[in-house]
Amino acid sequence: MPETVFFDGHNDLILRLVRGAIDAEDVARGVRRGRAPGAGAGAGARNGADGDGRGDGRSGSGCEQGGEQGGETGREPGCGGPIGGHIGGHIDLPRARAGGFGGGLFAVFVPSPDGGGLNDDAMRAPPYDVPLPAPIPRETALEVTRAGFDALERLEAAGAVVICRSAAQIAAALGGPRMAAVAHLEGAEAIGPDLEGLEELHARGLRSLGPVWSRPNVFGHGVPFRFPASPDVGPGLTDAGKALVRACNALGVMIDLSHLNEKGFDDVAAISDAPLVATHSNAWAVCPHARNLTDRQLRMIAESDGMVGINFASAFLRPDGRMDGDFGLDVMLRHFDHMIKILGEDRVGIGSDFDGALVPKPIGDCAGLPALAAAMRAHGYDEALMRKLAHENWLRVLRKTWDE
Ligand SMILES: [Zn+2]
Repeated sequence: MPETVFFDGHNDLILRLVRGAIDAEDVARGVRRGRAPGAGAGAGARNGADGDGRGDGRSGSGCEQGGEQGGETGREPGCGGPIGGHIGGHIDLPRARAGGFGGGLFAVFVPSPDGGGLNDDAMRAPPYDVPLPAPIPRETALEVTRAGFDALERLEAAGAVVICRSAAQIAAALGGPRMAAVAHLEGAEAIGPDLEGLEELHARGLRSLGPVWSRPNVFGHGVPFRFPASPDVGPGLTDAGKALVRACNALGVMIDLSHLNEKGFDDVAAISDAPLVATHSNAWAVCPHARNLTDRQLRMIAESDGMVGINFASAFLRPDGRMDGDFGLDVMLRHFDHMIKILGEDRVGIGSDFDGALVPKPIGDCAGLPALAAAMRAHGYDEALMRKLAHENWLRVLRKTWDE
């Protein structure tokens, strides 16, 4: 494990298991079942994958994403199959250990049946405005969500993760043999309008929840994938959404602001008694994407003593809004600098969106995190700041949110 161990505000590994593209044993071993670990497994995997344009593996074999393509939503990039010996995508245990990926919030996400809202190609040619997909029925969402929790439990049984329900458990797991995994819901469609289902999921380990993905539901209205655009693009939370925020406060479930539009963000800020947290969002001042946070929003997060995890999705990083991973890490450092300027050194971390986004080629997958750490150090971040940005800030905010 490298010197710098990252905790991550968001990844989409679970969706790959729900879709059956890989299983928990594959993640634990870093290779597909039945394949002998080859030279490409573990630290060598990055080398093996370098030549195929990793991070954009749509042309690879065995991609489970089918027609669903699109940036942070796309849950497609890097899914190019076992090139170089590993399981494709961005995360498995050997690559996590090689890259200092200590774990993070593992999202349970319900894709729209027609891939609605997922259009990576549109985001390659700014300006763009991807329409919000249609709502999905609760029964469908609950079935997929239960399958997501089943998959997370299989990951634990296979020795790939330890499911954490407290910051103390995360702290104990970080840097150890398994990834620390916190169960997160990206879009709360599995929960009914009277909040039925919330306690069931909490009992299974749910500790973080985004009321909406970029899709309307009974709780609110997500922010569209639109560039350039303000995040102020629709109505705020419904009454059910406001009740959900209060219930999550009472249960100790973190509320994630990342996919809310600006009015929804303001509603959470007005209601919630917890620090305001955007698990995977970037600075609008650097990249004016509707999905990013304005300076006003960042100041509100700072006032609440919350934090932001910086998203690696290329379209939310690049000032030109293009979903194209061919750019340098200096662009990411601009987001870090801007966030630190407004939020302070204690309120910024990472929220990679691994396995859900087209990430910068210099990072590629979770084994590439040392390249980011090196760029941050070369930029002048000292060791105390590196520890905060890598994991200490996440532990601080989770401790406070979960009242430990
Ligand atoms: Zn997301």
